[in-house]
Amino acid sequence: MTRVAVIGAGIAGLTAAKELQSLGYQVDVFEKSRGRGGRLASKRLSWATVDTGAQYFTARHPRFRREVSRWVDHGAAQPWQFTPHKLINGELHRSPDDTERFVGTPNMNSIAHQLATDLNLNLNITITSVERRNHSWYLTDQSEAEWGAYHWLVVAIPPAQARYLLAQHMSEVSEQEPLLLPCWATVLATKGAVCPTIQGVFGDKTVSWLSRLSAKPGRVKPAHSDDVWLLHFSPQHSADRQSDKSEQIIAEATSWLTTHLDSELAITHEYAHFWRYAHMATPNQQQNPNICQQQQLAVVGDWCQGGRIEGAYLSATNMVREMIA
Ligand code: FAD
Ligand code: NAD
Repeated sequence: MTRVAVIGAGIAGLTAAKELQSLGYQVDVFEKSRGRGGRLASKRLSWATVDTGAQYFTARHPRFRREVSRWVDHGAAQPWQFTPHKLINGELHRSPDDTERFVGTPNMNSIAHQLATDLNLNLNITITSVERRNHSWYLTDQSEAEWGAYHWLVVAIPPAQARYLLAQHMSEVSEQEPLLLPCWATVLATKGAVCPTIQGVFGDKTVSWLSRLSAKPGRVKPAHSDDVWLLHFSPQHSADRQSDKSEQIIAEATSWLTTHLDSELAITHEYAHFWRYAHMATPNQQQNPNICQQQQLAVVGDWCQGGRIEGAYLSATNMVREMIA
């Protein structure tokens, strides 16, 4: 049986692993974190589980639309129906559109859990180097343990990390490496009334996106709170504030939220997370996966195809098609 190692359990790695396993390959997935999902992230706090990474996704490609239907059928995703608002000259305005948006349920990374069902997942394993010898791949982890032999290696991690791992093996990775910009995410639980139609806001140069997490389908509100809000600071502002402490960014988020919602809000709980690799500086729409049949090596991820959840999925499924062709 052909053995495949997949490094990274974000949506790209899990999708690649699931598709290859369904085609009869024997697949092992390696993930450095305690949980699966990568930037499709939900953080379990003592007072709530909150989406700190991707907030929602759109599905434009027919293949991805079919996959999203499967997630919906399994209860792992639902449409999030709301009219977006936009901040114009400091004021909130309705900004209606007919875009269909989806969220994972009950949390964004429920989708990762759905994809990972039946996969052989090795969590808390950071792959620190990879080596090809005798036509096979061998992986070394943070405790110097070796894993292998594998016929194929699929690398599904952000570009800077992929370049580091594959420096000796795939020059195309360094040539094509796009820049991923950072993002400060801040979550605030509040007490106080806010107009119920404000659910998702395209923001300004400071905060690029505001979600009312408690209005997404399937969410549970924390005790003694009326709402939970997520603020994503813009790439530029996040880069400028990357050495700030969480308390500083939370104070700035609180001030931004109360000013723009124009409401007397008491903060009941708070949380901040800094994403070092979040937003593609210049999203590409490349269709060709990075694949080397001779070395039996493939590189996938959102950054290979547009920088969003849909791009991560398509990058993986396109790679599998080319691998088996
Ligand atoms: P990742 O999710 O980054 O997965 C890579 C995985 O590899 C991670 O789990 C990492 O821990 C693991 N890893 C890395 N190195 C190693 C190693 N050496 N060994 C083992 N494991 C390793 N997209 C949307 O469509 N809609 C949104 O609203 C949206 N908002 C976003 C907001 C934020 C703050 C961020 C950060 C991203 C957002 N995105 C959004 C983008 C979306 O989250 C990504 O496009 C997608 O999740 C990327 O999936 P991936 O599998 O390519 O990579
Ligand atoms: P989408 O079509 O809803 O949004 C794409 C972009 O179009 C938005 O960022 C916004 O600028 C604009 N837009 C869409 N609808 C609008 C409306 N009604 N009024 C005003 N502007 C509107 O979704 P998508 O293309 O699937 O992108 C998903 C989301 O993921 C985007 O919001 C993107 O910014 C976000 N994202 C964020 C990060 C991060 O690090 N914060 C990283 C990757 C993607």
